[in-house]
Amino acid sequence: MELGKKGNLIIISGPSGVGKGTLVKKILKDLDNVILSVSATTRKPRNGEKNGEHYYFITEDNFLEIVKNDGFLEYARYNSNYYGTPKSNIENMINNGKNVILEIDVQGAIKVKNKFKRSITIFIMPPCINDLYERLKGRNTETSEEIEKRIDRAKQEISLAEQYDYIVVNDSMMDAEAKIKDIILSCN
Ligand code: 5GP
Repeated sequence: MELGKKGNLIIISGPSGVGKGTLVKKILKDLDNVILSVSATTRKPRNGEKNGEHYYFITEDNFLEIVKNDGFLEYARYNSNYYGTPKSNIENMINNGKNVILEIDVQGAIKVKNKFKRSITIFIMPPCINDLYERLKGRNTETSEEIEKRIDRAKQEISLAEQYDYIVVNDSMMDAEAKIKDIILSCN
C-alpha cells in the first residue's frame, strides 16, 4: 500500500452457520494491514469464546447505556440479543491505512453503508440452505429453537444479498477465502 493511502471499511455478512468466522480468521492471519472490529453483544459467550477477542460480552443495561451515549457506529437486535459496533477509533484506523473488517448482520451493514459510502460490502452465501441447518446442528452451540430462529433469519438475510457489492458462495472454504482476499487486495 502507498504511503498515506487510506484503508477501507470491509463489511462481511452472511447467515449464521455459513462459516464467516472461520473465513475472517484466515484472512486476518494471512493479510497484513487488515484488522477486525470487535463488537459488543448481550448474547452469552459460547464455549471457547473470549471477552475482548470474539466479542465484548456485556449486559443489556450496559449496552443500552452505550446506545444512550452514542457509542455505537451501528447496532441491531438479532433474535433476542443486541449486537453493536463500538465507534472506538475505526475512522482513525482507516485514515492510517488499515483495512477494518466489520462482521455484522444485514441491518447493520445497510446502516454502515449509508454512513461510509466508500465501504465494501461482501455477502457470504451458503451453497444450499440445508448446509446451514447441518452446520448449526453440528456445532452444537444453539438450542433447536434458536436454530429454527437462525434459519428463518438466514432466509430473510439471503433475500437481501443483492444489495451487497460482492456475493461469495462458500462452497469451498479455500476458494471463498481466495475470493475475499482478492476483493480486499484489489480495492487497496
Ligand atoms: P452470533 O450470535 O452468531 O455471534 O452473531 C449473530 C449475528 O450478529 C451474525 O449475523 C453476526 O454477523 C451479527 N453481528 C455480530 N456483531 C454485530 C454488530 O456489531 N452489529 C450487527 N448489526 N450485527 C452483528
